[in-house]
Amino acid sequence: MPDGAPSDSQVTDERFDDQPRLVFWEMTKACPLACVHCRAAAQSAPLPGELTTTEGMKLIDELAAGPAPHPILVLTGGDCLTRPDIVELAAYAKHRGVPVAIAPSVSARLADPLLAQLREQGVSHVSLSLDGATARTHEEIRRVPGHFRATLDAIGRLREAGFRVQINTAVMKHNVRELADIAVLLHGAGVRVWEVFFLVNVGRGDKIDDIDPAEAEDVCHFLVDAARYGMVVRTVEAPFFRRVTRQRAALDHPGAPTQLSQGELHRHGELYRELADKLVENLGGPRSRVLAPTISTRDGKGVIFVGYDGAVHPSGFLPLELGNVRDAGLLDIYKNDKLLGDIRAARFTGRCGACDYKDLCGGSRARAYATTGDPLGDDPACIEVAGGSAA
Ligand code: SF4
Repeated sequence: MPDGAPSDSQVTDERFDDQPRLVFWEMTKACPLACVHCRAAAQSAPLPGELTTTEGMKLIDELAAGPAPHPILVLTGGDCLTRPDIVELAAYAKHRGVPVAIAPSVSARLADPLLAQLREQGVSHVSLSLDGATARTHEEIRRVPGHFRATLDAIGRLREAGFRVQINTAVMKHNVRELADIAVLLHGAGVRVWEVFFLVNVGRGDKIDDIDPAEAEDVCHFLVDAARYGMVVRTVEAPFFRRVTRQRAALDHPGAPTQLSQGELHRHGELYRELADKLVENLGGPRSRVLAPTISTRDGKGVIFVGYDGAVHPSGFLPLELGNVRDAGLLDIYKNDKLLGDIRAARFTGRCGACDYKDLCGGSRARAYATTGDPLGDDPACIEVAGGSAA
């Protein structure tokens, strides 16, 4: 690090102090699927108390009233396509200049004319879930026969209709060794963004087999490699991927800010080698720079979640209720909530609080809460917390 330059621990990114970058609205709990790791514990019928169309429009009005660029409204669920007013709300958001993305389930609803109507209303980004490179793995998780094929078909349909497709993959012991095969599959399917979700013990996610911190570190190193083939790679609830990305950049650019030695940077295990080798075997050598954004967002920083009943949470995986959009403005809650202020200012305890990457990363606040009861505590999935060398 150059003399006199502030370390990451001294600088906090203030871009997200006034409004979030992404607003997730869980439009409904209703969903035709019952995936083993679901955050939402979704069910086939909607729960009473969902925000109404008028309340959804009020939420959109509020996002439109803030400074441009407005936050992106991500319509999720449950299955957002089960809401009969989704096109009406997308049209209203378009009218108010609020960008909309959707995160639907793969079901019979994901088809024309609904897709064409949403595209017409300016929806351009769609994210789907794919949790295995084979039908067997994916369908053991998604619990619907034929769902693997249906998901691949949906990717093709969405691309033909002009949508930008993002694939979300939840990583667990069950599928971790298929990650390279999934990357190859997505590459061949023309997927532009791959978002890899590291489990948090909420919803149905508390009943399945999580990877350990050493495996998580290997996965992050593999994802840096996977981001060098023209596909953007991001993580959810694993912001330490940004630490790894920064550390790997230091290998290519000696002098970049890191306090780790070259030896410490090479902490890859057998899992990393297996995944990295398989990637090169199938795709050849890297073809692009690393497409892994290092914007320092996390639960409550740049990201906010509105539940089906209007309850506001730092993220969908952090069940602390901060208020309700039926009683207060979302942006007021986001800007003025004390816990969110602490999260944005990286006022953490333990190893995360002392870490040089506390703003760039900051750990999963959802996992800290789920395991320690303290949303400002340590993220135990990070190898630095689990007993690695000091960051
Ligand atoms: S110790 Fe905490 S802040 Fe540091 S890299 Fe790990 S999770 Fe991130």
